Amino acid sequence: MKRVLVTGGAGFVGSHLCKKLLDGGDEVLCLDNYFTGSRANIAHLLANPRFEVVRHDITFPLYVEVDEIYNLACPASPVHYQHDPVQTTKTSVIGAINMLGLAKRLRARILQASTSEVYGDPEVHPQREDYRGMVNINGPRACYDEGKRCAETLFYDYQRQHGIDIRVVRIFNTYGPRMHPEDGRVVSNFIVQALRNEPITLYGNGSQTRSFCYVDDLVEGVVKFMNVPGTVAGAVNLGNPNEISVRQLAETIIDLTGSRSAIVYHPLPQDDPRQRCPDIERATTLLRWQPRVDLTDGLSRTIAYFDELLREADPQPVPLEARAVA
Ligand code: NAD
Ligand code: UDP
Repeated sequence: MKRVLVTGGAGFVGSHLCKKLLDGGDEVLCLDNYFTGSRANIAHLLANPRFEVVRHDITFPLYVEVDEIYNLACPASPVHYQHDPVQTTKTSVIGAINMLGLAKRLRARILQASTSEVYGDPEVHPQREDYRGMVNINGPRACYDEGKRCAETLFYDYQRQHGIDIRVVRIFNTYGPRMHPEDGRVVSNFIVQALRNEPITLYGNGSQTRSFCYVDDLVEGVVKFMNVPGTVAGAVNLGNPNEISVRQLAETIIDLTGSRSAIVYHPLPQDDPRQRCPDIERATTLLRWQPRVDLTDGLSRTIAYFDELLREADPQPVPLEARAVA
């Protein structure tokens, strides 16, 4: 049995990862400061005797004994990471130093949850791992993008200088149940707005593209990558290469929910990437991995989750089936 530390374990992706590791027989230590995560996300895991939780902020040193570390702690939604940009950079950079120091003391394998944001607003499409990116050092996204880039550099230097066994995954837009309803990311925003029959807030003209990966597919790839034997150089993209415009996403969600919502246009946020799509050749070759859940299926599962969540908060629930028929 492995003892595994998951930082950011009470967040959206982290809670799915903890579940997957427990299902695989590991002992899981879930660490979180609950900035964007919640105890509700991990409530279903608490009865498992192999699951333990600690409230901690990774910008402070941590002394625990584990065999493997998944470093996910960091707000991922632009709204949240821009709320306190200095803390976002500290979480990525000082948090990486602390977790790498822990891995060094324990000689433990450590995986970093990096991001497609390291490519910035890319001029190369789709994005391969060897593309160096186009990031604005002085924009509202810089705290996250540059923080994650610096964290990657630290991981590569700890590998070269200290022989640490590292893994770096660049995660592209991932969605699914347990995203926070007020998270601010596009999938949760649109689904919650559609279920409430409220205006769908489309930023810009909606022609910007993203490629959405269902969380189960992502977590499968992350765990596979952690378990690849030997040394791995560089990062691996994980995401779904099925690229659509944000406007198409809005229309799909309106269709799937049977919503009466209208689309309303808001200004495009500064430095919002115009297009994003992963080249996943490295992941398919190295991990024999590719996403299996198509967008309609994944969105339907996510809509069902939010529908139940909103019904719990709403004393006058409108069942999803009725809404779809109306
Ligand atoms: P999330 O906000 O739901 O989860 C992040 C978790 O980290 C939360 O539980 C939060 O409370 C915790 N956290 C934040 N700062 C912390 C700190 N200083 N110390 C301890 N805990 C802290 O986001 P997510 O979507 O689950 O993302 C998880 C990881 O994956 C992040 O590192 C993110 O950058 C990366 N990622 C996610 C996506 C995506 O589309 N979901 C895309 C690219 C990268
Ligand atoms: N977006 C939008 N309406 C929203 C939220 C986001 O049109 O209510 C757009 C946003 O401008 C971006 C895309 O959807 O072009 C994805 O945004 P998100 O915040 O989910 O993640 P990003 O990929 O930009 O980090």
